[in-house]
Amino acid sequence: MEFTENLSTSRKSDQERASVLANPGFGDFFTDHTTVVDWTANEGGQGGEWHDARIEPYGPIAMDPAASVLHYGQEIFEGLKAYRHADGSVWTFRPRANAARLNKSAQRLALPQLDEDVFVESLKKLVATDIDWVPTGDGEALYLRPFMIATEAFLGVRAAREVSYRVIASPAGNYFGGELKPVAIWVSKNYARAGRGGTGSAKCGGNYAASLVAQLEAEENGCKQVLFLDSFNDNAVEELGGMNVFFVTKDNKLVTPALTGTILEGVTRSSVIQLAKDRGIEVEERKITLDEWRDGIASGDITEVFACGTAAVITPIGVLKNGDELIGDENAPAGEVTMSIREELLGIQLGTVEDRHGWLERL
Ligand code: PMP
Repeated sequence: MEFTENLSTSRKSDQERASVLANPGFGDFFTDHTTVVDWTANEGGQGGEWHDARIEPYGPIAMDPAASVLHYGQEIFEGLKAYRHADGSVWTFRPRANAARLNKSAQRLALPQLDEDVFVESLKKLVATDIDWVPTGDGEALYLRPFMIATEAFLGVRAAREVSYRVIASPAGNYFGGELKPVAIWVSKNYARAGRGGTGSAKCGGNYAASLVAQLEAEENGCKQVLFLDSFNDNAVEELGGMNVFFVTKDNKLVTPALTGTILEGVTRSSVIQLAKDRGIEVEERKITLDEWRDGIASGDITEVFACGTAAVITPIGVLKNGDELIGDENAPAGEVTMSIREELLGIQLGTVEDRHGWLERL
């Protein structure tokens, strides 16, 4: 697919960009351009065409107030990063896994499928255009946010016949800010993130809207993230608001909740599983309950707990706050297995460790 270019005449100055890159934070600043590809359903409603692939100046989207994304939330998104290597080249990590997940989400939200090559090309075009925005600092990257929205102006409840796919990019530093320290996690007892047959395994905006009130509760209780449980299934551990969870056991196994349809299949999760297996570590994808977590920490059967996702990579979990009950120790140092897998994964992403699985794609 050919992308046409309409380049910005009001790019940020070198000075403005440098001031953003000096302290990028997470998700507050955006590059000068955006990629867009539109989709229109065929007459009669069977299938449709992607068209008008283009690079545009970053800016507000003109949309009809009746656009169905604004009413029914027909929207999906992805998140991945572009990393600058020591030689200045820019790479991304497993973009085809994100493309496949976008299509899985699209299927669930009745949005059209996007060719994987077009997805990768859309990232390449944007990064090539805004290459100066890829940070060089330690732990920094250019966060890429592809998303798909239903733009058709129509208030009936049905799948939209006009859709827009876009990519925006935002320079990113350390997700939790500052040094890597074990984080405190809040157990959400009042709110669920997903239910069977729902949209838990899709990356759609609605899942995140539904998680915000629990996230607020977490923050009020001094925690950075929320843990969601399946209260209809023995309080089985599901995932955090934006990360998957792993346990390291005394007998050197990794345990992570199985993909039952209610949790998101993280690209980081799949990568951690592969890296562990490469080391001969056994990985169990199974049901693990809050009781097993509590008992495992008490008995020493669980030696480390960590969360993983694109934004925060791998972050040790220090303590779980379940109301007044504390499981774990906020001040415990980060675990050895956690840190060693984190370093290997970061090393692959940054080009300092051999990419033996061919996970990097040059942008
Ligand atoms: N779970 C949820 C709910 C998420 O939002 C994310 C972030 N995309 C993850 C897990 C981790 O996924 P990934 O490793 O692909 O970033």
